[in-house]
Amino acid sequence: MDLKKRIEKFKELVFETNREFYLGLEKGQSPHTLFIGCCDSRVNAEVLFQAEAGELFQIRNVANIVPREEDPDDNLSVVSALEYAVKVLKVKNIIVCGHSNCGGCAAIRKLNDYKDNLPDTVKWISHSSRISEYIDNKYPDMEEEEKLVLLEKLNAIQQLHNLMTYDFIRHSYESGELAIQAYYYDIGTGSISVYDYENEFSDILKEIALN
Ligand SMILES: [Zn+2]
Repeated sequence: MDLKKRIEKFKELVFETNREFYLGLEKGQSPHTLFIGCCDSRVNAEVLFQAEAGELFQIRNVANIVPREEDPDDNLSVVSALEYAVKVLKVKNIIVCGHSNCGGCAAIRKLNDYKDNLPDTVKWISHSSRISEYIDNKYPDMEEEEKLVLLEKLNAIQQLHNLMTYDFIRHSYESGELAIQAYYYDIGTGSISVYDYENEFSDILKEIALN
């Protein structure tokens, strides 16, 4: 894997043949969408949305989590990107994208297995541990594989509610300037499920009572 060669190729084959486009980007950015996704290398936002440079402002973290405003943890990395995207860039959409085979969500199901080796990861993903506990209580007979898929979906949708704990986001949403949706990307089929703020899982999330 020669990363230096790849970047040279970018300059030669992509940049040089699209020089006008890149010169335009030099003037500034005006992304239409804030994409909040997992760190997972298989979730390729530009490919999924067929987007060019300059279209997607992005926050990536393990298990695509947005800490709630009242959470005491230090989450300035996420919050500062939210502030900049919504207040300064005035993005029109926020997409929280969960995905299948998510290692972060699988770890939420087994926090004890990871707490010694990955203490900070466990602290981070524990933001969503209540969703996992709820699934165990509500669906004790569900297969583990199904529970994980449900967690991956509910976790993405829960983040819409977490976003709403920030006044500046809720105001933009309520005034119609900002649309928010959760997507669930199934890596093995290429299909994407789309969930609005109000969706088929809303009642479940109310029961989890993080709302
Ligand atoms: Zn993931």
